[in-house]
Amino acid sequence: MGEVEKGARVTDKLSRAEKLSAAEAGHAFGFETRQLHAGQRPDPNTGARAVPIFQTTSYVFEDPESAAAYFNLQEYGNTYSRIMNPTVAVFEERVANLEGGAGAVAFASGIAAQAAALFTLLQPGDHVVSSAALYGGTVNQFKHLLRKMNVELTWVDPDDPDAWRHAVRPNTKAFFGETIGNPGGNVLDIETVAAIAHDREVPLIVDNTFATPYLCRPIEWGADIVIHSATKFIGGHGTSIGGVVVEAGTFNWSNGRFAVVADPSPAYHGLQFHETFGTYGYLMKLRAETLRDLGAALSPFNAFLFLQGLETLSLRMERHVDNALAVAAFLESHDLASNVTYPGLPASKYRPLTEKYLPRGAGAVFSFDCSGGRAGGQDLIRSLTLWSHLANVGDAKSLIIHPASTTHRQLSDAELRAAGVGPGTVRLSVGTESAADLIWDLDQGFASVAAAAGDTADEKVATT
Ligand SMILES: *Cc1c(COP(=O)(O)O)cnc(C)c1O
Repeated sequence: MGEVEKGARVTDKLSRAEKLSAAEAGHAFGFETRQLHAGQRPDPNTGARAVPIFQTTSYVFEDPESAAAYFNLQEYGNTYSRIMNPTVAVFEERVANLEGGAGAVAFASGIAAQAAALFTLLQPGDHVVSSAALYGGTVNQFKHLLRKMNVELTWVDPDDPDAWRHAVRPNTKAFFGETIGNPGGNVLDIETVAAIAHDREVPLIVDNTFATPYLCRPIEWGADIVIHSATKFIGGHGTSIGGVVVEAGTFNWSNGRFAVVADPSPAYHGLQFHETFGTYGYLMKLRAETLRDLGAALSPFNAFLFLQGLETLSLRMERHVDNALAVAAFLESHDLASNVTYPGLPASKYRPLTEKYLPRGAGAVFSFDCSGGRAGGQDLIRSLTLWSHLANVGDAKSLIIHPASTTHRQLSDAELRAAGVGPGTVRLSVGTESAADLIWDLDQGFASVAAAAGDTADEKVATT
């Protein structure tokens, strides 16, 4: 191809991109379209349709002036992949778009994303109010890491608005909760808790991992910051660890309580992030300072895999929730299962909140108690063939774990009860297989539990 022809092709592409922008101005694209296209145009240099993996640490500057402008944050440009990367940027923009946020910053894990979201707005001596019904890794992080930072923490019953209200202190700087808690299946009343937070001029941070933006968008209900472990449903196939922080861009960081975001930053030659970047002030600080200094950057390859996951998010979630409801209904009707915590069940006490916040389905992670206590739970897991016994959730493949003999192994039965976990509690992450096969496997597992219990009873009879 001659130079002239090549030039003509590029010009044609640009004008098509411009036409697309003009058309977009009057049209709101649906979720299913945005999960495929948001944040990306085919690469203008190569025409590549898929998002290229920019496996590079660094970027050649056009000239010394633009290099200086990038480092001063006067212009937005790629410098070093610990801070930004074009593949990661598409993932960030796509998640921000799907959540309805102003922007997003990706991290190497969900745990890193949470730490960074908090580190950006906290100082030693501050206080956080958090739901007590959280992912176990988050409980550890808050209990130990926050204390090391000299940050105080109050756990509250997420279902009790007064508990949130009464926990607030003058030094409270954030509320934290999960859209769907674990193992109780608590659905957070986001609108109510956000109103309490905003009344005290504090941001609400919501971990939306279990719901995904397809099932719930917490920002639409007043949340200020949304966190994801992309490791789970966003990636969707159990291949990669990653996380992301989305900010709504509407919180007033200059309300006098957040000097750490609003005042001149000693870590960035006196820059005032909120005043300078407005809507993007918190996000800029999260990237240019916190990500820079903690260094937990998402790799371009993992960002690419998460983008593959996002392309089918709505399709997978529809199947996940259909299967979860079918499995939960089967368990609810089974004699050897009790206390099924799926909030999508008609009998769930969270039903009204589910209808409000999760009209498309209540996710696919929940627990139940297997009869026979510890031995019953272990017998069930031992006899399953299709469900994978492992410590993860949000895979297209169905997963199961028995907390009393794994994640909560160190706890006594009394401590287990305090954590809402019984000796026979089993946690499921329902995948996208044929629902009939998942139910068949559980059914034959229960038959083994019953047989083992019968054997034990026979032994008892024989020895008495
Ligand atoms: C897995 C998970 C996390 C932690 O994310 P990682 O990617 O494992 O670091 C946080 N919150 C929830 C709800 C999770 O399921």
